[in-house]
Amino acid sequence: MSFESLGLAPFLLRALAEQGYETPTPIQQQAIPLALDGHDLLAGAQTGTGKTAAFGLPLLQHLGTSPQAVGHGPRKPRALVLAPTRELATQVHESLRDYSKYLRIPSAVIYGGVGMGNQLDALRRGVDLVIACPGRLIDHIERRSIDLSGIEILVLDEADRMLDMGFLPSIKRILAKLPKQNRQTLLFSATFPESIKQLAMEFMRHPREVQVTPQNTVAETIAHRVHPVDAGRKRELLLHLLGQDTRVQTLVFAKTKHGSDKLTTFLEKSGIQAAAIHGNKSQGQRLRALGDFKAGKVKVLVATDIAARGIDIDQLPRVINFDLPMVAEDYVHRIGRTGRNGSSGEALSLVSQEDAKYLRQIVRLLDRDMEIRDLPGFEPQVPIRWGNSAPGKAEVPGGQRPPRKSSHGRRPHGGEGQRHAHAGAKAHGAQRDGARQPAADAGRGRRNNGGPRRSGTR
Ligand code: AMP
Repeated sequence: MSFESLGLAPFLLRALAEQGYETPTPIQQQAIPLALDGHDLLAGAQTGTGKTAAFGLPLLQHLGTSPQAVGHGPRKPRALVLAPTRELATQVHESLRDYSKYLRIPSAVIYGGVGMGNQLDALRRGVDLVIACPGRLIDHIERRSIDLSGIEILVLDEADRMLDMGFLPSIKRILAKLPKQNRQTLLFSATFPESIKQLAMEFMRHPREVQVTPQNTVAETIAHRVHPVDAGRKRELLLHLLGQDTRVQTLVFAKTKHGSDKLTTFLEKSGIQAAAIHGNKSQGQRLRALGDFKAGKVKVLVATDIAARGIDIDQLPRVINFDLPMVAEDYVHRIGRTGRNGSSGEALSLVSQEDAKYLRQIVRLLDRDMEIRDLPGFEPQVPIRWGNSAPGKAEVPGGQRPPRKSSHGRRPHGGEGQRHAHAGAKAHGAQRDGARQPAADAGRGRRNNGGPRRSGTR
């Protein structure tokens, strides 16, 4: 299937060709024709699936080809994209600018943490497209610096995350300012909890549903590995892992802002170029850190979940969870940055006794194996108690059992012992990630249906 066959206009096709996009991704194939036809859309797609173009191209085509309703007064925005974080808003803005290279669409990006001046100037000059984080957009609404009564297309990008971040009241206030009639709404979300469904029922008209990445799956080209370790020795272990190949760009996740700062300082003192990205950093600092990381000037980016949400880094080979996320779904979001477009990736998790319960939830959510590998010299003093059952087998009653060992697996103190946290006996479905057909196929050989696996030492 080609972009031409989706019904996109020549000015977009030219820009896409320049971007090197040859074929539409599955979410683009499904969403673009429906959105061009004017339908409301509920789209299930994670970062990395090409979702930005899936909503961005129809939106730009609409702005570029249908004339603005004739009205009085200054130019009003015609399309609004709401995004949870500044980084995502900036990225969406950049992508849409690239796609609309051959068509002049004045736009503004609006987020907090920076002065109002530039945003006010842009709004005063008049824009067709606004990409905004909900909090700052509310500020503009209150100051009457933005008039949303001319919005023809609304996009909610990463709607689940916006709700997780507590933006529901802001979103409802914003929605109340938009025209009710003749508005198209496109809602993109990785997951569809009840709160999203309710929002959709309230604010959308007969939405069509498209879904490319079933909830809670990750690319199958990713090797997931768990390294048990005492909490106090995680830093050392991190250095050891990073030191194995200092050329590999690595995104490291920490639980707290303070923790990421401390870890970054530690890495830098240890001679590793690192930068931190989290909510207490100014917008300038965050963009600089991200830019340096993308350019390869910084090898390690230490991030918290919210700051890293949606950041677009192509071909990221390695993610290390210094801390496991408390919410299992965040593991999926973290790992969504690696293994894109069929490339291989590694997801390593440093798991101490305190993290064991989170690991169990993650394995259950992913419904797939995770190799547990003790690294010599870093084995925990006391073997980790995994809880009532092996990770992923919560139903099995009784006892403090470690996860099953692989057939040759040694106990934690016996060198590079390998075991597997596994997802239990649930059958793994057929192809589940339409967006990643080649990737899934490539990874199929690695998959194991729940039992212990033997795996070679490195
Ligand atoms: P997104 O899910 O929108 O964050 O996109 C993930 C990455 O895929 C971005 O780097 C896009 O530039 C890239 N991308 C999106 N659509 C395509 C396509 N059809 N072909 C190649 N790359 C794409």
